[in-house]
Amino acid sequence: MRRIIDFHTHLGDIFHENKSIAFKRPGIVKHPDGFDPFEDLEQSGFTRPLIVPDIEAQNVLIDAGQYRIWDRANIFTTGEIMDKTGISYMVSMPIMPNTSFEEALAASKLDPRFIPFTCPDFDLPDEQMMAKLKKDIALGAKGLKIHPIIQNIEITDQRCEAPIKLFGELDMPISYHCGVNDYYKADSPYLSLTNLNYGALDYTFKLLKKFPDYVIIPAHGGGSCGGELEALAEAVKKNGYKNVYVEMSHRGAADIVKSVELFGEDRVMFATDWPFDTCDCNIKCAEEALGGDPVALDKYFYRNAARILHLNF
Ligand SMILES: [Zn+2]
Repeated sequence: MRRIIDFHTHLGDIFHENKSIAFKRPGIVKHPDGFDPFEDLEQSGFTRPLIVPDIEAQNVLIDAGQYRIWDRANIFTTGEIMDKTGISYMVSMPIMPNTSFEEALAASKLDPRFIPFTCPDFDLPDEQMMAKLKKDIALGAKGLKIHPIIQNIEITDQRCEAPIKLFGELDMPISYHCGVNDYYKADSPYLSLTNLNYGALDYTFKLLKKFPDYVIIPAHGGGSCGGELEALAEAVKKNGYKNVYVEMSHRGAADIVKSVELFGEDRVMFATDWPFDTCDCNIKCAEEALGGDPVALDKYFYRNAARILHLNF
């Protein structure tokens, strides 16, 4: 039977509105507007980057993203999408202070298909932040997630360094958001709590220079605004980095083929950034890209992620 690990998903409200939705049935917050640019992108087969022409379109995109989280990032809708699409496991990535390891862990106890990651709590003093991460690993955290934009911190900041070293030295995967994406409209009270420039790929180049051997997964293949995948591949090739992996959320068949060519079939993984992608389209794109090569498809869907997650199932 086909096995699929989705390497990038979210549970709960990752945004600063911090709605308590992770364990509630959907329907609490409904999208008031019919047009959903994420759906539009999906229907195109992810044949274009996740960028919009103007502020108005950007506001529509921001709203749609928030409503996707509020309506779908709960254990019920997420469980249903796994049933429907045949996804075996979802790596659940918390973003502190809005969603926590505890939510991902609780979800994994209720439904073992959730694979919990943890995220540093930068509100704690360094020593406590590190003690918490060590405790999370003991409790079952399988990797580290940082969101430089939403958490308002450069991935190369010295406060990120100790968590990255902790997971890196344990040969555990480290993933962080990449891509210069807006999360808040100009009039939002939360805009000042985020810094979209922290999604730029330059930070990744600096990080990889410092930690060339750790298992690092810059999310969205380095970013989904256009051109990041190729730039990342060039840096990886030039410097001979062996442990940089890419996941293909928001990317279609052509990019999957290209990524396998650029990074090799052992370094590319299936991901949806659920609930921002709706999973079945991502699966179709993978079949289109790699369907002729069952070994490469199995590596893409399952084996590469299972290896770096040290899963024994
Ligand atoms: Zn994400």
